Amino acid sequence: MFTYLCKPYRAFSFVCAASVLTSTLMTGSANAEVPASNLASVESSATTNSKMMTLSNASIDLDVYRQHVKTLASDEFEGRGPLSKGEEKTVDYLVTQYKKLGLKPAFGDSYTQAVPLAKITPKNISSLKIGGLDFSAGSEFTARTQRIVNDYSLTNSDVIFVGYGINAPEYNWNDYADLDVKGKTVVMLVNDPGFASKDPELFQGNAMTYYGRWTYKYEEAARQGAEAVFIIHETMPAGYGWGVVENSNSNTKFSLVDDDNNASQVGVMGWLHLNAARQLFEKVGMDYGELKDKASKPGFMPIALNTKASLGFTNTIERAESQNVAGILEGTDKPEEWVMLHAHWDHLGKVEKNGQTTIYNGAVDNASGVAGVITLADALSKREEGFARTLMFSAFTAEETGLLGADYFANNPPVPTSNMVAFLNIDGMNVNDDVDYILQYGESYLSIEDDLATAAALQGRTVKMDPRPQNGLFFRSDHFALAKQGVPSILFMSLGDTDPSFIAKRYHKADDDYLPSWTLGGVQQDLSLIGSMLNYYAQGDVWPYWKRDSDFKDKRTQAMEVKKAK
Ligand SMILES: [Zn+2]
Repeated sequence: MFTYLCKPYRAFSFVCAASVLTSTLMTGSANAEVPASNLASVESSATTNSKMMTLSNASIDLDVYRQHVKTLASDEFEGRGPLSKGEEKTVDYLVTQYKKLGLKPAFGDSYTQAVPLAKITPKNISSLKIGGLDFSAGSEFTARTQRIVNDYSLTNSDVIFVGYGINAPEYNWNDYADLDVKGKTVVMLVNDPGFASKDPELFQGNAMTYYGRWTYKYEEAARQGAEAVFIIHETMPAGYGWGVVENSNSNTKFSLVDDDNNASQVGVMGWLHLNAARQLFEKVGMDYGELKDKASKPGFMPIALNTKASLGFTNTIERAESQNVAGILEGTDKPEEWVMLHAHWDHLGKVEKNGQTTIYNGAVDNASGVAGVITLADALSKREEGFARTLMFSAFTAEETGLLGADYFANNPPVPTSNMVAFLNIDGMNVNDDVDYILQYGESYLSIEDDLATAAALQGRTVKMDPRPQNGLFFRSDHFALAKQGVPSILFMSLGDTDPSFIAKRYHKADDDYLPSWTLGGVQQDLSLIGSMLNYYAQGDVWPYWKRDSDFKDKRTQAMEVKKAK
């Protein structure tokens, strides 16, 4: 049964919210700085924030939830690897569930969206000749490409040290200023100047910004026209050791394929071992430590190493299509405006190694999230009056290999991104007892954070900031692919927080299995909270917005302006 504590919700909204919400409203969206184009939405956000209502715990059917997790995380589903038999089972299961709930297809007449993927395996990697040195693949550098080419070679390419490789107008920072890197090889540091200096005034201090992620560094270098990128690995600012870099860059990788066969991406996505980098700088008569120091201070200028780089390798390429899955509960008044709840369906699949088969069932990551989406779809679809806006319930593919399904969806959306009100993403639920807080990832990015605080307060909970902001988790799950297109998006991830042994012992390991001992108290309270937020957005008045200046905010402003002009 689907019930809100205050009914009927439209007539009653202010009465039921006023007593609980005074404090959150005072600090809520009304005070934030907002572009003029968004002003109308802020007013409504400020006045209707009080319309938030709690979805009662009783609406969440935990027995049904448990059954979904158990099924999705069973060996029969083979760890839900994209392009495997496990994918077929998972997609069939999801489509069956959505149909059963009476959801309509989200992609025209289909519940699925085909995502074209390439499986690229680099082979025969030569040594990297740079600065008169000869580095070995694997132990001293890694190199791969996402361009769809069978042979790749880099020949006598000029090498430039570009600091952190960051172009961030909102931080008044451009490592590429007045520099032409077309066809050149750029060498750069990992993370961002804020992390390096711990200066809270620089970027976001210890908390990682998107500029610190390797994905950004390759993207920006491509925009600048660079041919090859080598990121210098250091364990602290990267957040992982060289072993992780070597492992995840030397084997088969999935990639999306654009119309141009990814020709606009960089030719070499590379990493350089710290020892190799030190040798290289010494060889060209420079001091790595000194340059690193300079690179984390404002006013840094890129430095030509006056040397060339060469290397070559071949690729084995297989093409195939994986599937995103989504169903909708069509809105009654504003069906073209979509409010979205999501969880990635994929995990690491079945791996054969040394004659042994290991199935990575991914029970918490992310059968728990997918089961949450179905369970909430079930609860919300039972609401007789329906919702003003359309609710979308989705499960995308290939998150674990780089948010690929989400990226494809965000670039090939069933409705324009300017019609997407908010995107809520669950990645790993708290399957244990309930707790008196909810985690927030990223700070002061979005007005959704205020709504999260309101929803938590209604449950007597508080918001706790992500205790590991240096890991940049806000940039590492599917919602971020939508955020990059400007859609206000938020991550719900309690994975590991309530059970400290989870990360060490089970996360991305074969032991992430379903356990009958799970109490699911955390699932119940979090689904209830997420249900409240969905209900609030689906009423049809609120447009969440970006607070802090960023590429994401610019994207949203542009999309909204285009929409207004139409
Ligand atoms: Zn996950």
